[in-house]
Amino acid sequence: MPLTAHAPLTIDEERFAADLSAMSAIGWTNESGMQRTTFSDAHAEVRTWFLDRARAAGLRTRVDGAGNHSAILEAADPRARTLLLGSHLDSVPSGGRFDGALGVLCGLEVLRSVRDAGLDLPMSLEAIDFTDEEGAVLGTLGSWALAGELTSDALASPRCGRDVLLSGLERMGTSEEGLLTAARDPAGLAGFLELHIEQGPVLERAGVAIGIVTGICGSVSFDIVFRGAARHAGTTPMDARRDAGLAAAALMLEVRETVTRDFAGCVATVGDVHLEPGAYNVIPGVADLKIEARAQHDDELDRLSAAITELARAQARRWDLDVHIESTGRWSPEPTDPRMRAAIAASASRLGLTVMEMPSGAGHDAQVMAKVTASGMAFVPSHHGISHHPDEYSSLEDCINGSNVLLGATLALAEEL
Ligand SMILES: [Zn+2]
Repeated sequence: MPLTAHAPLTIDEERFAADLSAMSAIGWTNESGMQRTTFSDAHAEVRTWFLDRARAAGLRTRVDGAGNHSAILEAADPRARTLLLGSHLDSVPSGGRFDGALGVLCGLEVLRSVRDAGLDLPMSLEAIDFTDEEGAVLGTLGSWALAGELTSDALASPRCGRDVLLSGLERMGTSEEGLLTAARDPAGLAGFLELHIEQGPVLERAGVAIGIVTGICGSVSFDIVFRGAARHAGTTPMDARRDAGLAAAALMLEVRETVTRDFAGCVATVGDVHLEPGAYNVIPGVADLKIEARAQHDDELDRLSAAITELARAQARRWDLDVHIESTGRWSPEPTDPRMRAAIAASASRLGLTVMEMPSGAGHDAQVMAKVTASGMAFVPSHHGISHHPDEYSSLEDCINGSNVLLGATLALAEEL
C-alpha cells in the first residue's frame, strides 16, 4: 500500500511542543534574546541536547568532521540513499528562537514519527544540524564541508580570524583537516529538505500557512569609494566643490529608484556609508559605501551588478570625482528541485493547508546543498516578518503545520526518489 494512501501520518504534537519549548530555553536571555553563536557554550549545549533527544528516541547519532550533528534512522537496505532533513542550531548574536532551530527539531520529529509508525522506508533519514550557518565563523561552514566545496582559501581568512577558528574547532573536537573529511559522496544522498521560518512578512500578510521556496536568491556586494577634495566648508563656493558625500547620497537614492523601476522582485541596499574626514566644517573628500544586491536569476544578478556600477560611474562624472569599485562577493542563485517543490505541495494539500510559491531572499544551507543534491525548502509564517531579533515568533500551530508538511513530503519522496 502506498505510504501516502489514507489519512496523512502526523507528528506527536505534545512531544514536539515540549521539545520546542525546552530547546528555545537553551541560550535564551531575557535581556538580549537568543545567544547561541557558533562555538559558544550555549551552542554546544543545544547540540548536546539535540543528540540526547535523538538517542532517547532510539535513533543513531553522529558528529562529522565539520561538527555537523545528526540523528539517523537507517533503512533496512544498507544500499539505501539518505534523505537529509535539517537546518542549523546556531543563532546570530541577540537572535530569535526559531531561525534554524525549528528546522532541526522538525527533522528530528519526522524521524521519530516515522519510527513510531513502524514504517520501513526505502531510504535512510538523517536530521542534521549544520555548523555555523549564521556566519560567526564563515557562514554555512557545515554545509560547505558536507558538500565537499570548502576551500583552503576560505579557511585561510575566516571572518572570525584564524585563531578563533582553530581553537573553536578544537573545542568542537575537530580540526581544519577534520573539516575536509565531512565531504559526502553525492551518490549516497537522495536529497535535502529544509523547513525554516520565512523571516519576512509575505506569508502572514497573505494569510497562507506554507511557503514553497522556488529558489534562493543570489547576491553580489561591492565596496564603492568616491574621491573628491576635502576643502574648507566655509570658503569653498558651492560651484567649486568636489564633494564625495553628494555622490554617495545621490547613489543611494538612485539604486533604490532603479531597482524599483527596472528590477521587479530584486532588492539592493546601501548598508553602510562612511565620509572622510567627517567634520562639520570640511567638505567630504572621500565617501565609502557598502552595497549589496540580490536576485533570483544569474542573468538578472549580472544586469543588476552592471546597472549599479554604471550608476556609480555616472555619479562620479556628475560631481567630478574619482571612483573605485571593488566587487567583494558573489553568490549564485540556486533554484530548488521541482520534485522537492511538488512533494511539499502534495503534503500541504493532503493536510488541507494553504500554500504559495515564493523565493527566499535570505541565504540558507539549502543554497549550498543544492549544488550537490536535490534540495527543497518550505517556509512557515514569521509574525510581523521579524527575524534575527529576540521578537522573532512563529505560532505553535504554524510550527506544527511545518513539521507535518515536512513529514508528508518525506513520505512522498521516499516513494518517488
Ligand atoms: Zn536560518
